[in-house]
Amino acid sequence: MTDRIFNFAAGPAVLPEPVLAEAQRDLMALPGVGMSVLEISHRSKTFEEILLGCEADIRKLAAIPASYRVLFLQGGASLQFSMVPMNLLPAGGSADYIVTGSWSQKAVKEAQRVGAVHVAASTEAENFSRIPTQAELELDPRAAYVHFTTNNTIFGTQWQREPEVGAAPLVGDASSDIFSRPIDVQRYGLIYAGAQKNLGPSGVTLVILREDLLARSPKNLPTMLDYNTHAKEKSLYNTPPVFGIYIMRLTMKWLLAQGGLAAIAERNAEKAKVLYDAIDGSGGFYRPHAKPGSRSNMNVNFRLPSEELEKGFLAAAKTARFDGLKGHRSVGGIRASIYNAFPKAGVEALVSFMKDFHQKNG
Ligand code: PMP
Repeated sequence: MTDRIFNFAAGPAVLPEPVLAEAQRDLMALPGVGMSVLEISHRSKTFEEILLGCEADIRKLAAIPASYRVLFLQGGASLQFSMVPMNLLPAGGSADYIVTGSWSQKAVKEAQRVGAVHVAASTEAENFSRIPTQAELELDPRAAYVHFTTNNTIFGTQWQREPEVGAAPLVGDASSDIFSRPIDVQRYGLIYAGAQKNLGPSGVTLVILREDLLARSPKNLPTMLDYNTHAKEKSLYNTPPVFGIYIMRLTMKWLLAQGGLAAIAERNAEKAKVLYDAIDGSGGFYRPHAKPGSRSNMNVNFRLPSEELEKGFLAAAKTARFDGLKGHRSVGGIRASIYNAFPKAGVEALVSFMKDFHQKNG
């Protein structure tokens, strides 16, 4: 492990070392099977155990009621931008979208191809530096559902609790903070997340869907875009992303061994606090993008006094063996992504680097 560096990438992102070690060890042959997970039938007993084990751990971690289906799909979170309205937005209906960043905007754009969208709130005028308050939400009482992005990967803001949306099913894009803290699944009609931040590698998308919503899908949907297909066939209608599900299975086992979602949430909050304290304590040298009360525990964005200094910071960070710290171009500056598997030692190393850089350049 000596040549691993601190990986602050926004996704695909750092995975737990025990997961990588087990996958590496068993890549030639799964114990007792003599073949790797990459080479066996997705309909074999071995893979069935991996898939069912993964689902069982996901259900255990988030206490998912039996009335919800757990699906392993492909096409990334981006395909869910389309599948959600195709399945849940009836002809003539309208859906509410709360816009808190670029991913929410992309979700809106896809939904508009399917039907009517009502933007219930947007913080774009403030460059998405905060989450709207409950009072700011202009919800349509007849909305087919309300869509929001639980954590805004690019802008480093996070909902501290779900919005109150009344009777409409709540749909959450939880791609960048799923299972980073306890989640009350019963508050949702549907939750989706690309795996490549907190769950595993890219290529598999987790969808948690309340069963009664399956009845909404129009009958003429393409088979692969209909949630009913995947619910009925238990994610085995066609060949699933077997390697992604295998790594997710190991990651869920790791997460349970960490003590589950409450325990990981505590550690995530500690890690983020170390970083925000360093930013807040820098006398304005480091300037946070997210407003207090909207700060993300997953993606921490900040600026330096000039773009020159930001360039210098990134170059020096590279030499210090930190990777993935360049902010998204729409915000600029620095973004440190510190998902579940990111070690506290890495955050402490970054903070000590930041203090040193400030001293030399302040
Ligand atoms: N939503 C959010 C919040 C994201 O962070 C991302 C990707 N970073 C996406 C959606 C898109 O995910 P994918 O690349 O899996 O389509």
